[in-house]
Amino acid sequence: MGKPTGFMDYEREDAEALSVAERIKNYDEFHTPLSKEEQQKQGARCMECGVPFCQSGMQVGGMITGCPLNNLIPEWNDLIYQGCWEQAYNRLRLTNNFPEFTSRVCPALCEKACTCGANGNAVTVRANEYGIVENAYEQGYACAKPPKVRTGKKIAVIGSGPSGLAAADQLNQRGHSVTVYERSDRIGGLLMYGIPNMKLEKDVIERRTEIMQEEGIEFLTEVNVGKDIKVSELLSQYDRVVLACGASNPRDIKVKGRESEGIYFAVDFLKSTTKSLLDTGLKEGSFISAKGKNVMVIGGGDTGNDCVGTSIRHGAKSVLQLEMMPKLPDTRAENNPWPEWPRVCKTDYGQEEAIGVFGSDPRVYQTTVKEFVADEKGKLKSAVLVKLKPEKDKKTGRMMMKEIEGSEYSVDVELVLIAAGFLGSESYVTKAFGVETDGRTNVSTTKDSHRTNVENVFVCGDMHIGQSLVVRAIREGRDVAREVDESLMGYTNL
Ligand code: FAD
Repeated sequence: MGKPTGFMDYEREDAEALSVAERIKNYDEFHTPLSKEEQQKQGARCMECGVPFCQSGMQVGGMITGCPLNNLIPEWNDLIYQGCWEQAYNRLRLTNNFPEFTSRVCPALCEKACTCGANGNAVTVRANEYGIVENAYEQGYACAKPPKVRTGKKIAVIGSGPSGLAAADQLNQRGHSVTVYERSDRIGGLLMYGIPNMKLEKDVIERRTEIMQEEGIEFLTEVNVGKDIKVSELLSQYDRVVLACGASNPRDIKVKGRESEGIYFAVDFLKSTTKSLLDTGLKEGSFISAKGKNVMVIGGGDTGNDCVGTSIRHGAKSVLQLEMMPKLPDTRAENNPWPEWPRVCKTDYGQEEAIGVFGSDPRVYQTTVKEFVADEKGKLKSAVLVKLKPEKDKKTGRMMMKEIEGSEYSVDVELVLIAAGFLGSESYVTKAFGVETDGRTNVSTTKDSHRTNVENVFVCGDMHIGQSLVVRAIREGRDVAREVDESLMGYTNL
């Protein structure tokens, strides 16, 4: 352990965000990382406590606490304090294929479980991870390291999101020959066409996938498996197939007036901005634009927040964000102690920006939409909203949100973005493969396994566990790789 008193000697210093006024001028990432020297001090704040929950990745209070990848956090905190940056990178890569993604987009479950944070400010684990991986690229040791021996086994991975990429990386490093099929025009899944540029600039994805290509992975874009290529063809060409197609089926809001022009799913909106930004710098104007419009985002989660931030950058006239549930407390409730995931109200970057631009928090709680109203040309012009209150369902005994009679009111709105969650996998893929799904349309497997009911077909990521987090998708990709490898070789060292 580097500095036993580090957590008392140094205050937490994190990467600074640009002011709202500055950062909404473009779609770039907006945090200024700490200098290498300052980051080393932050590493010294790690207490190397007896029980490092930060790396536990276990269920506490029904939610995951600590890193699902079991990243060796105390080890690399110590290594950066000692100035051993390359060793720190090697320890980090041992458990995490893509620290450049997680250090940008992860909600940092590790920091919420950090012992330092039990009674003070947690260690800047995410910023330390960022420092380690960016330094590795700068110094050139984040580079292609192709496997020395090939096994002669062929594997197809369907889907190039974080789970598919992690599975491909692991299996390729093991010496199997891997081809990744992606229906979109660019690699990355929701990393590319979901999470906005402000959180993850897209050359960060390309920088990694170029290395993976150099290491021998073949990427085939614009191939929609189940439509452009037959499943029987794939199964005869490859020894194993890994499905990593995500859970891209959005939950709809089925109320009167839903067919009005101007109502979109969040990911379609976010994708259209990113694609246009990458293709033409937003010059061709084919993206769904919020410019000059009253925007209503339905859903108070992270996807909704990304829609708020993107709408503000477009130049929206106003932004409203609806949340059905009551506002969470600002600090941990007594029944939600450390190291559980804190169920507290988080004001994310998009909401901060709305406060900065419009002067108030865009979120309204315990509210939903009852009706959309269009003008004579079918264009959305307003929405009728209704207030909700929690009430016990008489049949099930479960708490439900019920409408408050007479609480309806109307708001002007020309653009609605539905960010109400995801229902699971898309049926054309699951049907084409003949894999069984559960009630949520996630692909079924036995507990702790990634094997489907179809021989030689495995599944991972959101398609397996439902819409989740990048860090869990990477975990899924690593786990499926281990199982596939074992099924091919009779043992595994992954
Ligand atoms: P995906 O990333 O969904 O990738 C699946 C890929 O499969 C897609 O590229 C798709 O085109 C491809 N595909 C599907 N069917 C076929 C087919 N038949 N043939 C070929 N290709 C196919 N998580 C975080 O941790 N932090 C965040 O900040 C965050 N922000 C988010 C923002 C938004 C708007 C959304 C929607 C999600 C966000 N998430 C975030 C969640 C996270 O992005 C997902 O949990 C993660 O990407 C899932 O990875 P995956 O590989 O399972 O699937």
